[in-house]
Amino acid sequence: MARILIVEDEARIAAFVSKGLRAEGHHTTIAVDGKQGLDEALSGGHDLVVLDIGLPRIDGFEVLARLRDQGSRLPVIVLTARDSVTDTVSALEGGADDYMPKPFRFAELLARVRLRLRTTEAGGRQAEDALEAGGIRLDLRTRRAAVAGRVVDLSAREFTLAEIFMLNPGQVLSREQLLDHVWGFDFDPGSNVVDVYVGYLRRKFGAKSIQTVRGMGYRFNPGP
Ligand code: CA
Repeated sequence: MARILIVEDEARIAAFVSKGLRAEGHHTTIAVDGKQGLDEALSGGHDLVVLDIGLPRIDGFEVLARLRDQGSRLPVIVLTARDSVTDTVSALEGGADDYMPKPFRFAELLARVRLRLRTTEAGGRQAEDALEAGGIRLDLRTRRAAVAGRVVDLSAREFTLAEIFMLNPGQVLSREQLLDHVWGFDFDPGSNVVDVYVGYLRRKFGAKSIQTVRGMGYRFNPGP
């Protein structure tokens, strides 16, 4: 459980992020402009910040700059526009720990939040930016996968699905959970897209990597 500050002026996005993080057991606070966000971030009551760039009063870059000027090392994940490489580069140079291009699926943000929280717990930025189990390695920065040291091509959806499985080893994940996380909440629940993509992953990771649990869903088996 972590205390997460969401600085986002778009109520719909703030609510979407907040709801998802709470469902994961985190405590969330929403700040609706840069000034409020900066004050909250400096209050010392948060473990991580999800920071939008386009904000009223003070924009996200300025919030980040002032936060770092004050010596805060609070992990910050910046929400950037997907087509703006400049924003992304500026954010990282300005001291952001990670970025999330908008629009995004919740699972993608959650993976980054988990990674940042783990990195913080490990006491520094040196901690791994990868998930590894059973010979499968997912590089969360480059979004590339390898099996037994050999690079395997995964589509963005396949990668996100693999990430969810690897973040929850040995746990049964239902089709609905996987649909929500990887394809979004409004996807047709009757669709067999999850089964199809699990099939793709099995082909790439090995037939036994993901087990079918009848009537319940799927379980990732990390293996030896
Ligand atoms: Ca905004």
